[in-house]
Amino acid sequence: MQCDVLTLFPELIEGIAAQSMLKRAQESGRVCIRSHNIRDYIKDRHRIADDAPYGGGCGMVMKAEPIFRAIDALQDEGQELRLIFPSPQGIPFSHQLAMDLSRESRRLVWICGHYEGIDERVLTRLEPEEISIGDYVLTGGELPAMVMIDAAARLVPGVVGDPGSVEQDSFADVLLDYPHYTRPEGVRGYGVPDVLLSGNHAAIRLWRRKESLRNTYWKRPDVLHDECLTEEDRRLLREISQECEQV
Ligand code: SAM
Repeated sequence: MQCDVLTLFPELIEGIAAQSMLKRAQESGRVCIRSHNIRDYIKDRHRIADDAPYGGGCGMVMKAEPIFRAIDALQDEGQELRLIFPSPQGIPFSHQLAMDLSRESRRLVWICGHYEGIDERVLTRLEPEEISIGDYVLTGGELPAMVMIDAAARLVPGVVGDPGSVEQDSFADVLLDYPHYTRPEGVRGYGVPDVLLSGNHAAIRLWRRKESLRNTYWKRPDVLHDECLTEEDRRLLREISQECEQV
């Protein structure tokens, strides 16, 4: 997965990309993350990237020309580009989109806005995909870009050591993940569910499936659609609902 991030604050990208799994994913050659300082594409010697909005009003707007030049430079490198503009006005980011990005063979290019945003002509001329990470407004597109890169990178085969752990994660098969426990067995008087210590793999699988269903039933009933459920899931859900009535 090839990621290029156009930004006025490359340190924000480099700081996150240099840690933990993203660092290892790049070292293994599975993911490549490059940041490009938009100021490097400004011709005037003051390297001013923004200006006041036409029509007046508050805030500053990022100039179009440096962004066009940065994109031209990437296009000159020859590979096909897929442009993304992180924006609170975009379509909601999701597991499906992360999966789609992780499988992309084109170079993925994020154009990070800052201040009031970027000159609209960048959007009308280049038509990047507008993607939002939630209904709130951040100061810039760098964190949203890294959220998308992080979520997609861990879906690239080999980035997470055990593929099973990605497959069982929340949203991977619609359901939320089940609860996890680790050593020691007792923590401040609280134990671990007996079944997890039983060594009975069939019972552990069933318990985990039921707890996944319970988590989803309580926390995200909106994603629990009947057509995604097996006969076993329906039976477990009936048990969960009966257990709720007994409480
Ligand atoms: N004036 C813009 C608006 O109301 O739509 C918000 C500008 S915001 C302060 C600056 C930049 O942060 C945006 O151009 C965008 O790149 C990024 N941004 C802010 N919130 C975001 C979100 N929820 N999802 C994705 N990007 C976001």
